[in-house]
Amino acid sequence: MATSTETFENLSADIDIEALRAKYRHERDRRIRPEGLGQYRSAAGEFGYYAKDPYTPFTEREPRQDRVDALVIGAGFGGLLTAARLREAGLERIRLVDEAGDVGGTWYWNRYPGIHCDIEGSVYLPLLEELGRMPSMRYAPGEEIRQHAIAIAEHYGLYPDALFQTRVSQLEWLDAENEWQVETDRGDRIRAQYVVVSQGTLTQPKLPGIPGIETFRGHTFHTSRWDYAYTGGSADGGLAGLRDKRVAVVGTGATGVQVIPHVGQDAAHLYVFQRTPSAVDVRGNRPLDPQWVQGQEPGWQRRRMDNFLAAITGEPVEEDLIGDGWTSSSRLQRTYLSGVVDQSVSEAERELTDELLDAHKMNQIRARVDEVVADPQTAELLKPWYRYMCKRPCFSDYYLQTFNRPNVTLVDTADTGGITRMTETGVVVGETEYPVDCLIFATGFDVGMSGIVTGALPVLGRNGVNLLQTWRGGPQTLHGFYSPGFPNLFHLGSMQNANSVNFAHILGEQAEHIAAVVARAQEKGAVVEPSAQDAQQWVRTIAEVSADTTKFQSECTPGYYNGEGRTRKILTFSPGPVKFHDLLRRWRSEQIDDVLTPVKETR
Ligand code: NDP
Repeated sequence: MATSTETFENLSADIDIEALRAKYRHERDRRIRPEGLGQYRSAAGEFGYYAKDPYTPFTEREPRQDRVDALVIGAGFGGLLTAARLREAGLERIRLVDEAGDVGGTWYWNRYPGIHCDIEGSVYLPLLEELGRMPSMRYAPGEEIRQHAIAIAEHYGLYPDALFQTRVSQLEWLDAENEWQVETDRGDRIRAQYVVVSQGTLTQPKLPGIPGIETFRGHTFHTSRWDYAYTGGSADGGLAGLRDKRVAVVGTGATGVQVIPHVGQDAAHLYVFQRTPSAVDVRGNRPLDPQWVQGQEPGWQRRRMDNFLAAITGEPVEEDLIGDGWTSSSRLQRTYLSGVVDQSVSEAERELTDELLDAHKMNQIRARVDEVVADPQTAELLKPWYRYMCKRPCFSDYYLQTFNRPNVTLVDTADTGGITRMTETGVVVGETEYPVDCLIFATGFDVGMSGIVTGALPVLGRNGVNLLQTWRGGPQTLHGFYSPGFPNLFHLGSMQNANSVNFAHILGEQAEHIAAVVARAQEKGAVVEPSAQDAQQWVRTIAEVSADTTKFQSECTPGYYNGEGRTRKILTFSPGPVKFHDLLRRWRSEQIDDVLTPVKETR
């Protein structure tokens, strides 16, 4: 990857930028759907079988009526990390609540064949040093990550109080008692001193609203509810149940890229229905040397995580410790993922340099397709024509190779705006019907906001005030964590906070922050609640500092990154996550008491 010091001249030498822009516009325009996000439908409702948990049988239990110190909604890494840090801060009764049958969040639900994390395990998997564990592979398999989540819950003693297969249905602050009353869909009524909401972002599977989708009589499921009873095998592959089946996979995003090589290997025939090709770079996964960790000084994981975060967001690093596809393309991602803008050059110079670097990267990615895929027509269809960060970059050493198999057919649906319709027995694109026995949807997820923002989880704060009413004009938080009028309630996620492709790291920093504030509140016998002025000031700050990426997004091919072509400004702390974490550390040492009110004097 070229550096920022390279001149326009040598970057632009072999790039016809006007022709490339025209090609990108053309490819975007033939994929834009007038319905935007309305083209999708929920995987729940009459598609009830998608909503079922295929991994854990439902168990009846008596409703709980008890009291805990902290109740954490969501048992993915955000919830687990916060619970772990609250345990370290001295809280005794900590209750995780999750709709899933166990901990793990996204790693609980997504168990499809080929699942791996595309961020290096040494910086993605939290608390490796605390637990004395190491991933077996540089890019860890999903099942190993799920087992790591279980190990965290065991290590911090989180299972005895946890409630699974349970959805929190209401939160109500009891002014007289200074605690929350939590109600669930299992009839529980639980009192909690603190409530933490960590509901994740890509959690609700979505389906394309293909005409006739409900008429298909073959077998069908979404990748996040993999049906191993039908396919056989495991996340390592060996899908013996597909050997006599004609299988369709719809979707070629980050999930499709991991699933398709396994289905291609085992199905009698695989049809891949593609609307937009992913940009697929080299992976180079390999086993990790178990001895490596012996030679590391304590604190190695924190240093490695900090180094990765700094490298991908354009902060100076002496040495790139990770050195992979993310760090080498940081210049292309940092603005569009983390909101970080290089202020050292003029806007025009920055934009043109970024565009030329982007063109070089995408040319490499397109050249790789020609190198790997034998059939020139198929290769042409697999080339992505958009800028690198318009969609989630993918990495695989097996995906493109799958299209050289005689039992695999790529069906491009760009000209028809996706699949035309479905029949009882197959998939129709244009005038052609492809009869299939099984249809697998790798069609992604609704970009979830916390149920607090959608209204799915009503929250009543001081004096019975509804949080959604207070947030009519947008969320009102200090640093994204807490709001006036809603004491001892904490939010995790990217709302008015920071963002990074290694979101597990962001969640880890949030967990530490929340635990530090709770520890201080315990020490002082206080409740946690920012003042209205501090929250208003933070909302103003975020609006001012957030990078405006709407021009870039509007020129992108549609996808969930740009609301299917309906762009909006994303509010995030654009000086970047490294600076945001510094800001939080400073705030903790100088201003932490600003959010504490002694219980007797509550506002
Ligand atoms: P995506 O939303 O990225 O992809 C959905 C796919 O379905 C796209 O290829 C889309 O095409 C296609 N699609 C949707 N509707 C139709 C239609 N009507 N006809 C044909 N195709 C259609 O979902 P994923 O599950 O792949 O990934 C979601 C996110 O999950 C990733 O971006 C990433 O953040 C995360 N993830 C992370 C991984 C990791 O290793 N860390 C691994 C896997 C996922 P089109 O592009 O044209 O809309």
